[in-house]
Amino acid sequence: MKIASLQRRSIRGLKPYDPGLLADYRFKLDANENGFDVTKAARKKLLREMAKINFNRYPDPGTLDIRKALAKKNGVRVENVVIGNGSDELIHYIIQAFTDEGDRVVFPSPTFEMYKILAMANSAVPVASELDGRFDIDVKDILEKARGAKIIFFAYPNNPTGNCFTQRKMEAVIKKAKCLVVVDEAYFEFSKKTFINLLTRHKNLIILRTFSKAYSMASARLGCLFAGREVTDVINKIRLPYNVNALSQACARVMLKENTEAAVKTILGEKEIMYGLLKDVYPVVKSDANFLLIKVNDGARAKKYFEKNGISVRLFKDGILKDFLRLTIGRPEENRAALKILQRGV
Ligand code: PMP
Repeated sequence: MKIASLQRRSIRGLKPYDPGLLADYRFKLDANENGFDVTKAARKKLLREMAKINFNRYPDPGTLDIRKALAKKNGVRVENVVIGNGSDELIHYIIQAFTDEGDRVVFPSPTFEMYKILAMANSAVPVASELDGRFDIDVKDILEKARGAKIIFFAYPNNPTGNCFTQRKMEAVIKKAKCLVVVDEAYFEFSKKTFINLLTRHKNLIILRTFSKAYSMASARLGCLFAGREVTDVINKIRLPYNVNALSQACARVMLKENTEAAVKTILGEKEIMYGLLKDVYPVVKSDANFLLIKVNDGARAKKYFEKNGISVRLFKDGILKDFLRLTIGRPEENRAALKILQRGV
């Protein structure tokens, strides 16, 4: 008996997710994390909160404290918030809760890979709508492809391109689509652009956020979902009983009260400097996020240069993103090291 022959048919062509990390790096600019770790003061508070945990007990299954704080901060009700073990888990839940085998899940392309992977993992059918030459969405194509589909996913700003799609086009899709529309605002704290104010008018709208980027909490795996009660009720049916552990819940409680704006401001300033210096050397996408997508001359050669200098970056090898490099904007010294290589003309 071949074990591989027992696996779910829809995942036979899939490979395990490979973030393409450089094993021995000095600077990590490959995963759009926050280069600034939590402050010393926040670290102390985190440890104090951890010390209060009853480690022998299950965590609060409802993640109520965090949901209350997030609801207050974002002007929604507690029942409109679901917390996940990273927003990846929430993407998984949305697809699992709302699709049957063969249902279509639509997203622009290129975009965040997990929409496709998790659609396949749930035996749904991923359907891509190509972005135009300016990496903007084609509303007509998306709406056509979404006819009879269950879900449309948008990353806003988009990953890996970094831009926000035209607001008017997004609103047209949200208004006209006859299915769920998920706006994944993982980089919201950098773009400051959101559709959360449309939640009350559009019960098919879902907003996703994460603590992994601006909040410097990628290690704790915390994502949040905002949606109408009808959506959250369905998702809560399949949400695992204790999906967010007590340590992560403690992290969220502390970090929600922390001011992340100083680091965000520095990163945005650094991004503008980098963009200004690189845009005459390479095609670079104007970014609303904490990373830049850069088309280099020879991707493989560029990657080698970065690796030689101990800098881990994300290189795309196929399709329309061939020779595009995604560079996270990190701390100033990290950015300078990356700049030094890029200014050589790789
Ligand atoms: N959505 C987008 C658009 C992302 O870029 C990422 C992280 N790379 C995620 C979701 C996943 O974030 P999390 O760490 O919350 O699972």
